[in-house]
Amino acid sequence: MSVPSYSILCTQCDYRSSSNATNGQYYYKDDEGQFNLERQLGWCNGCQSITAIEDFSDTSKAAGEIRSNLYSIRRDTGTVFANILNVLFKSRREWIDSTIETINSYAKYIELAKARAGQERCLKCSSYVVVPYKPAKEGGDLDVRGFMYHGERNTDFEHPGCGGTFYEKADNVRLHGMVESKFYKADGSFIES
Ligand SMILES: [Zn+2]
Ligand SMILES: [Zn+2]
Repeated sequence: MSVPSYSILCTQCDYRSSSNATNGQYYYKDDEGQFNLERQLGWCNGCQSITAIEDFSDTSKAAGEIRSNLYSIRRDTGTVFANILNVLFKSRREWIDSTIETINSYAKYIELAKARAGQERCLKCSSYVVVPYKPAKEGGDLDVRGFMYHGERNTDFEHPGCGGTFYEKADNVRLHGMVESKFYKADGSFIES
C-alpha cells in the first residue's frame, strides 16, 4: 500500500516526522470483540515526537455513520421481498452482518470517547502526555494533487523545548509501507502487532 505523505520539520533544529505516523490498521480488542481505533497526529512528550495518538474528537461523525448504516439495514430488511433476497443470497446476509459490525464499532467509539476523552494516549509509548497536532494557523500551500502532496506550509505549532515551529513539506516519493495491524486494550495500552 502506498499513500501520499508529507514530512513535518522544525524551523530551528533537524527534527523530522511524517504524516505517515498514523498509517496502518489500528484496533481495540476486548472481550466484546475488535473495533476500529481512530487516531490522529499528536505531539507525545514520552516519545518527544509527533506520532499517532488516540482521537476521541468526532463522536458526531460516528453518530452520523450509525444513522446511515441503520438506514441501509432498514432498507435491506424492511420488506418481504428484501427478506426473500436475504434468504436466497448469502452475499446479502454477509453484507448485513458486516454492516451490523460496523454500527457496533461506531457505538464502541462513542462509548470510549465518553469515558476517555481528555485521556488520549500515545499509541507508541502509551503516555498520556500528548497534544493533538492541530496548528491553529497555517501559511502556504500544501495539498494533494494526483495522489501526491505538493508544496509546503508553515504552522504556529511550537516544537516543545526547542523554540522552533513545525513546517510541513510534501514528500516527493510515495512510500510503500507494509500494512501492519496493531491491537490495543480499551484503555489505549498496546497489546500486539
Ligand atoms: Zn526543533
Ligand atoms: Zn509516545
